[in-house]
Amino acid sequence: MKACVITIGNEILKGKTVNTNAAEIGRMLYFAGYDVHRGISVPDIKEEIGNAFRSLVGLCDVIVSSGGLGPTFDDITVSSFADEFKIPIVVDAEIYKTIKARIEKRGVEMTKEREKMALVPKGSTVIRNVEGTAPGIEYHLQSTKIFILPGVPSEMRSMLKHIENRIKLSNSFYFEDSVLVTGIYEASLAPYITELMEEYNGKIYIKSHPMLKGGEESEIEVEVSAKSEKLESSKALVTEVLRKISKIETQLKSR
Ligand code: ATP
Ligand code: MG
Repeated sequence: MKACVITIGNEILKGKTVNTNAAEIGRMLYFAGYDVHRGISVPDIKEEIGNAFRSLVGLCDVIVSSGGLGPTFDDITVSSFADEFKIPIVVDAEIYKTIKARIEKRGVEMTKEREKMALVPKGSTVIRNVEGTAPGIEYHLQSTKIFILPGVPSEMRSMLKHIENRIKLSNSFYFEDSVLVTGIYEASLAPYITELMEEYNGKIYIKSHPMLKGGEESEIEVEVSAKSEKLESSKALVTEVLRKISKIETQLKSR
């Protein structure tokens, strides 16, 4: 099953904000059993946001977006998404009530900026925001489940567990582990990794992360991952391949 991530905000493209949301969403999706097929970052521009959703609906089983749900003029994710698919926007009575109660407690006025955070595409299921005001949104379009989350990392994060429970696959389990290989050049190890990749024929994925420690000394984190119908099988595959890599390391060193 395929999943895609959309991160929205000029600040990400400018490099002012490091895109940690994409990383956290990607991790969640992988461990929920999905292949993350595409990640797109777009600026706070209506057409760009609309196009990003349009290009992924139907292609992915799950889309998770973050950013642009707040009260400021450039927070336009909901209206951009809804307008792209011609979905009417309605006030969510529950969210409106929550916003109203919150601002009355603080003794501030209801404004159109605050009201805006209660607007959702008609037919949405609202995801409560326990860390802030703007709720997350779940919307099903064709065969795609869409989750629209706020950009503030703590708010976004507070909704990830909920989403994971909603979408977790019961027949796809991802597992990864790694081993540290020292004193061998990545290029010397590379042909053995290729061989293992061929031997396991798509059942595993091996990624070497070189970490140069200065001078000639090299350290490579070799990560092995697998996805299968049972967590135990994924773990067993990964463990087996890691053992083989450690053996290769010993052989190469003894030459
Ligand atoms: P708000 O209610 O604060 O306006 P929002 O949903 O509109 O929330 P944004 O305005 O897009 O979110 O972003 C709020 C803040 O969250 C940004 O200033 C930025 O620091 C952070 N942020 C946004 N997107 C990301 C991201 N992809 N990764 C990490 N941090 C992010
Ligand atoms: Mg904002």
